[in-house]
Amino acid sequence: MVDFIALAVLAAMLGSAITYIVKAKKKGVKCIGCPAGGKCSGCKK
Ligand SMILES: [Zn+2]
Repeated sequence: MVDFIALAVLAAMLGSAITYIVKAKKKGVKCIGCPAGGKCSGCKK
């Protein structure tokens, strides 16, 4: 039972993380969760 709860929590966290990444990619973000706020060399083009 405890294992099931742990799995459910993990799945929920993964789901929200994936949703966040998919949404960011749809917005055209190249550097997801960038600490430089989209101004690092990886973000600029
Ligand atoms: Zn960046």
